Amino acid sequence: MDNGKNGMPLELFDKIRQLAENHAIDYIGVAGIAKYQQEIAVIGGTVAGKFPRAISIGIVLPQSIVDLLQERDCYENVFQYQTHAYDVINQRLDNFASIVGSQIQKSGYRVMPLPAAERIDSERVCASLSHKLTARLAGFGWIGKNCLLINPDHGPRVRWTSVLTDAPFAENEQMLENRCGNCTECVKACPARAIKGCNYADGESGEERLSVAKCEAYFESLGQKGRLKICGMCLYACPYGKKFKAG
Ligand code: SF4
Ligand code: SF4
Repeated sequence: MDNGKNGMPLELFDKIRQLAENHAIDYIGVAGIAKYQQEIAVIGGTVAGKFPRAISIGIVLPQSIVDLLQERDCYENVFQYQTHAYDVINQRLDNFASIVGSQIQKSGYRVMPLPAAERIDSERVCASLSHKLTARLAGFGWIGKNCLLINPDHGPRVRWTSVLTDAPFAENEQMLENRCGNCTECVKACPARAIKGCNYADGESGEERLSVAKCEAYFESLGQKGRLKICGMCLYACPYGKKFKAG
């Protein structure tokens, strides 16, 4: 058991890594967010400014379930995706963020686990910041033309959350460079023609890359046809997500 602030941050992070292992968490790392307070406030509210760093936590989505998106006209397929690639993964992320929060607080530091489901759905629109920013700062990927966080091994097929803290963990110092290059797979796959095909640039609004209005209108049209409001084609199409083969 840790006994207050004199407990070693390194040992504490090792303990958190072990917890992550036990909960089949795929990615865990530390992002320095002091410079990004305005963007972090999008997901953390006004209290976010009181925390200098965020733990980024990611779970890889089940490949076979994401692949069901190829046949989105089938209700069972999209229901399966909504359940096991969205709701359940978000619950697991929230539960794990809560466990990490308790562990850190017990050690005498301040902590704030954030909800995995962002106020703005990360697969539907281009939230300027969010768990994607913390994952990027933690060195897990880059922001793609589809506005999703692209991990080199799993593409956008990872769901993320963040835990804010003042625990003095070592912050990641190396971010990955953008590797979208000339690829336009997500642009071609988008049924709403919402993705404009531009590479991410620091400080640029997400609207430069993706029309939120077109994406939203497409979701509304699905609802009007009595279908589940699930698309995810920009997630499915990315070659970085397709290359991983289980087993
Ligand atoms: S592929 Fe679907 S979810 Fe992605 S931007 Fe286009 S309409 Fe939105
Ligand atoms: S599909 Fe291609 S352009 Fe789109 S995010 Fe993935 S690598 Fe980048």
